Amino acid sequence: MKLDILVVAAHPDDAELGCSGTIAAHVAKGYKVGILDLTKGELGTRGTPEIRILESDMAATILGLSARENLAFQDVFFNDDAAHQLEIIKAIRKYQPEIVLANAVSDRHPDHGKGSVLTSNACFMSGLRKIETTHDGQFQPAWRPKFVYHYIQNNYIKPDFVFDITPFWEKKVESIVAFKSQFFDPSNAEPASFISSPEFLDFIEARAREFGHSINVKFGEGFTVEKMIGVDNLFDLK
Ligand SMILES: [Zn+2]
Repeated sequence: MKLDILVVAAHPDDAELGCSGTIAAHVAKGYKVGILDLTKGELGTRGTPEIRILESDMAATILGLSARENLAFQDVFFNDDAAHQLEIIKAIRKYQPEIVLANAVSDRHPDHGKGSVLTSNACFMSGLRKIETTHDGQFQPAWRPKFVYHYIQNNYIKPDFVFDITPFWEKKVESIVAFKSQFFDPSNAEPASFISSPEFLDFIEARAREFGHSINVKFGEGFTVEKMIGVDNLFDLK
């Protein structure tokens, strides 16, 4: 199935925290969007891989995704090497996205920066026809996404552009709290984590408000680019 946008995320919930407003906005415009999770986040403080897959499915339904797949790479220990690149190349060729949204270029969690480089490299390599891959026994033609944009995660990075997610803020929150095992839940007896305090969700809101404020709207999500983006009508910018 062809997708318009493929979001690649090191952990289930990275996409929801980083760019689910943008995802929901494009789904509402009729675009087909999917998420490729690289790991099951099995080394996270709270939850289990099984719970996180169920939560991912719930978030996928909330966001109206056309596809969600988990490559089950080893959490924390995956590398930017041929074996991992090939798995992502196969997914890119399977979904043929025009745009890929990838992890933050650097962040507190090393998997985010690592996932970012791995995804960027795989997007480029996917366009090299002499790298041969198959899916269900069928040869896959080369495919290179036109753009790779990086969403911003925990650490502040100055965005190259901000997407207005104001009409989709509630949906973003809904998709985040679908990961019940990860975020604030007074009934959860597991050890507290960096992201399980009520303040973490306040921080997510503050970040969205700050990015929104920078373009004079209520809520925004910031992205960095890999190559210069162009317009042919200055009135397209807001
Ligand atoms: Zn993460």
